[in-house]
Amino acid sequence: MEDHLRRLVRLQRLEDRLTILRRRAAGLPAELSERAAHLAALEAEVEQVAAERQQALARAQDLENRSVTQEERIAKLEAQLRETRDPAAAEVARHEVEGLRQQVSAEQEEALGLLESAEGLAERHRALAARLEEAREDLERFRETVAADEAELEAEIAGLLARRDATLAELPSDARAHFESLSEQGRGKIAVPMKADSCGGCGTRLVPNDAMKVRSRKLLHRCPSCARFLVAPDLWNEEAEDAAAAGA
Ligand SMILES: [Zn+2]
Repeated sequence: MEDHLRRLVRLQRLEDRLTILRRRAAGLPAELSERAAHLAALEAEVEQVAAERQQALARAQDLENRSVTQEERIAKLEAQLRETRDPAAAEVARHEVEGLRQQVSAEQEEALGLLESAEGLAERHRALAARLEEAREDLERFRETVAADEAELEAEIAGLLARRDATLAELPSDARAHFESLSEQGRGKIAVPMKADSCGGCGTRLVPNDAMKVRSRKLLHRCPSCARFLVAPDLWNEEAEDAAAAGA
């Protein structure tokens, strides 16, 4: 009977390990999609900066074209001013020239500002594009790692399942059926050590006679409340130490 109890402790250790590995395997796709989303955000940012730079350049070009037209108008007005003998007409022309000069000067300043900002955006674009390239390579490497990790986890899980099945096969059939049923329910802890005469799973206190039975190591006793298998604490620790010594 003690052998069966030891098998239960080993089975519980296998269940624990399987839970961890399954959780890890389930987490890999989530991490992958998180990284892919980060890359997509970076791509959008690179495009946004390129578009902003194009807008700044186009606006600067518009202003430049306007300045050329305005300069032509100024030259024409100045020619008129040199020829006219009408003081009122001269005053109007001078006024227009002054207004145009102010406009040209303001717009040229704006165009310069835009060109400067386009240069800054070009610098930012180069930096972002480099980061994007790096992130793409990182993601590609991560994808390969995930694929390798998944294969490794699957192999490890398959190995643990084989050990679990082999150990289960050695249990009496009713105990095996009970263990499998609790495992399918996702109970996590199926065999637990008794703790100070209470169930190590749910904390229910055992009647003294039952606690004695568990300590006797002579039968597979289940908690009356949560139905988990109860194992004498010293036997639990012995088995755990043996497993650690065996590197399992
Ligand atoms: Zn219990």
